[in-house]
Amino acid sequence: MEDCIFCRIAKGEMDADIVYSDDRVVAFRDINPQAPVHVLVVPREHLRSAFDLGEEDGELLARIFKVIRRISEDEGIAGTGVRILTNVERGAGQSVFHLHFHVLGGRPMLWPPG
Ligand code: AMP
Repeated sequence: MEDCIFCRIAKGEMDADIVYSDDRVVAFRDINPQAPVHVLVVPREHLRSAFDLGEEDGELLARIFKVIRRISEDEGIAGTGVRILTNVERGAGQSVFHLHFHVLGGRPMLWPPG
């Protein structure tokens, strides 16, 4: 997907504040953070959203959640509360159509907000 910004970040063709990288997953800070810690965890493989995941992606998902836990520990939020979310389609707020998990913390993350 040549025009996909998260593919371009994963390939190193576009700058990002990368906090983690391996052969299947890349994580970088959101440019418009909604919390003191706001990292996006994305598979290198282009998938449009969580609804493109199949049973064959079990290992990828396990890897993604392992990375999310590791980043949460590294960022010092693992014990205080972490929101992990992924938006599917525009009505839910998806604006980049490459699967990504928001990892948010560092402030009270109670739900519903307010
Ligand atoms: P969503 O709205 O769930 O699709 O999330 C997309 C997120 O990507 C938003 O929170 C944006 O702030 C973030 N974003 C967009 N472009 C970039 C970029 N070049 N580097 C880092 N984060 C980005």
